[in-house]
Amino acid sequence: MARAHSTAGSNCGFAGFSGYDLDLDKAVDLIRKSGARLVGVQAPEGLKRAMPAVARHIEEKTGAKVIISGDPCFGACDVDMLLAMEVDLMLHLGHAPLEEGPGNVIFLEARMREDLDGVVEKAALVLKARRVGVTTTIQHVHKLKSALEALEKHGIQGVVGPAEGRVSRAGQVLGCCYSTARAVDVEEYLFIGTGQFHPLGIALATGKRVVIADPVTGEVSDIDTDPLLRRRFGAITRAREAKRFAVLVSKKPGQRRMDLAKMLKALGETRGLEMFLVYLDNIEPDRLLNLGAEAAVSTACPRVALDDAAKYRIPILTPPEFEVLLGEREWGDYRFDEIE
Ligand code: SF4
Repeated sequence: MARAHSTAGSNCGFAGFSGYDLDLDKAVDLIRKSGARLVGVQAPEGLKRAMPAVARHIEEKTGAKVIISGDPCFGACDVDMLLAMEVDLMLHLGHAPLEEGPGNVIFLEARMREDLDGVVEKAALVLKARRVGVTTTIQHVHKLKSALEALEKHGIQGVVGPAEGRVSRAGQVLGCCYSTARAVDVEEYLFIGTGQFHPLGIALATGKRVVIADPVTGEVSDIDTDPLLRRRFGAITRAREAKRFAVLVSKKPGQRRMDLAKMLKALGETRGLEMFLVYLDNIEPDRLLNLGAEAAVSTACPRVALDDAAKYRIPILTPPEFEVLLGEREWGDYRFDEIE
């Protein structure tokens, strides 16, 4: 396997460190078989540094010309459609495919080399249940089997939910989809990966305890949902002062929820709020201020409202939070935003 070393970073779980494998032999083979003469390459920020070498490798091995997508890439939801239309074949690196997607795009996962067994065995010592749901992000999915064996050594049965909906690999979670966690009937979960966002999503989607085993730091910890819930309650309270709401709709193919946005606009208008739809690719603070919005509801990637809120001067709510604001949903029935 030809290897591209990288640092990685995307909304779907890549962290800033090196140690990923990209199967470039497979990419070369697919390009040769397709007869493509012009190839696009797209990757999350952390893999971008490796892209000139990847492009050179593909050009040398296939004779095809390569164009690298220079725009940010946050996930499989974020295929560069304009580049895909420009080229014969496009390689989207670092993410597994979502259900939807243009036909000439091939997804090539970036697999983290890091061994999980040590940190999983450490987590086994703090897990209380003898049967736990095991979840991870795409770059570790290929190591789930050995993680389950590591748990077994401690008398713990790891249960992995099947791939369905937006998720293409068993046990995988996305920041916008926790179906593999919900699919298993357990009292406790183990999340193997970096960051707090995915385990927060699992905890809020299931209402169960989540233990994090971080293969980068080697640390094991419990997730606490209270700080996030306090921040989100504060955002809803601030948004109650607003009369002008922007309803944000993403142009990214796997984030576009136009029907939901139209429904929220209509709902807000029935309560006397001024609501306007805003269609945009990258959501950035200044764009909303220039529109004069006093608050926003984001139907794009859930991380915009939940993870990036501090960047914005106005409150940004998720669709379920907007329902709380309007009294359509009880705060006690708080739901983490997920994309169907
Ligand atoms: S919409 Fe989902 S897949 Fe796309 S960046 Fe956000 S969390 Fe990841």
